[in-house]
Amino acid sequence: MGAHKSVLVTGAGGFIGHHLVTYLKKKGYRVRGVDIKYPEFSATDADEFYLLDLRVPGNCLEATAGVDEVYALAADMGGMGYISAHHAEILYNNSLIDLNTIESARVNGARRFLYASSACIYPLHLQGEADAPPLSEDDAYPAFPQDAYGWEKLMGERLCMHYREDYSLETRVVRFHNIFGELGTWEGGREKVPAAVCRKIAAAKLSGTNEIEIWGDGKQTRSFCHIDDCVEGLYRLMRSDHFEPINLGQDRMVSINELADLVAAAAGISIIKRHVDGPQGVRGRNSDNSRLKAVLGWEPSISLEEGLRVTYAWVEDQVRESLKRSLPSSATTSN
Ligand code: NAD
Repeated sequence: MGAHKSVLVTGAGGFIGHHLVTYLKKKGYRVRGVDIKYPEFSATDADEFYLLDLRVPGNCLEATAGVDEVYALAADMGGMGYISAHHAEILYNNSLIDLNTIESARVNGARRFLYASSACIYPLHLQGEADAPPLSEDDAYPAFPQDAYGWEKLMGERLCMHYREDYSLETRVVRFHNIFGELGTWEGGREKVPAAVCRKIAAAKLSGTNEIEIWGDGKQTRSFCHIDDCVEGLYRLMRSDHFEPINLGQDRMVSINELADLVAAAAGISIIKRHVDGPQGVRGRNSDNSRLKAVLGWEPSISLEEGLRVTYAWVEDQVRESLKRSLPSSATTSN
């Protein structure tokens, strides 16, 4: 379907962007990936990959030259630990990326522009309880996101609205709810909760301690969507004529304690949870998928158990390899 159409994926060195490049190549697109870094865990499938800092206007002009469509995924982001501790940096970096990317796409005549927003735009007061009702798109206003990250994403959404109204750029806006899966950051401080829990449980399993730390009481809730559903939804949204913001996620809400139990089941061990202080984000968050189903005639279908099974297996391999690397060389030789 996409034969010969040229698309740009920004953030193609990151988790979702890397998977999206692979998906779009399979669909027959000519794909350009752009990022400040190459994908960490496997080679890109992009036809061309530019290392560019998209905070810089000239780099954005180079990135968007000659493409029909832009999937704008580049952002300075991470899990709650990162987002809650880098407000100024995130606001500064992501504002520049968003402003310069969309303006360059317009100048270069791109026809469609998909912007990656987040469930973090939703108002804090609607997410105060663990059993908070699912968030529907119209809940966004009056706005009061928890972090600078959410405020900046709202600005990005509004940029799209105005570029569509003023310049007829066909914009699409997706609000992701906790995307997880293989080939995602799993250590270092930017990892999100599913990857962090997989890492902790793999480390507990491989060391035989069976104990893991959980930030807070673990009763905070979220929904989690596997990356294969995510890229399918992104593609369907880009092809649709829907320009208003739309949720993309699962609508099964689980607590972080339940998430840990599911990962432990995937690992085949039982675990002891030690609750410690740490950033937890909002108390409860779930996606209302009514609009997603109505607009796309589709919704994510990979079960949390299945998604965690493959993700855990991948993270366990990473942890095992990393443990091997950290052993002194004498300890890795036999005898
Ligand atoms: P990621 O961190 O893995 O990928 C983002 C990529 O953007 C990284 O590879 C990073 O190097 C790149 N980037 C950062 N600054 C850049 C710059 N100045 N120039 C060029 N590239 C730069 O994150 P992800 O999980 O793949 O998220 C992709 C998009 O989806 C982001 O916009 C993110 O805010 C949004 N999002 C993701 C989730 C999720 O659950 N993963 C949830 C909500 C929103």
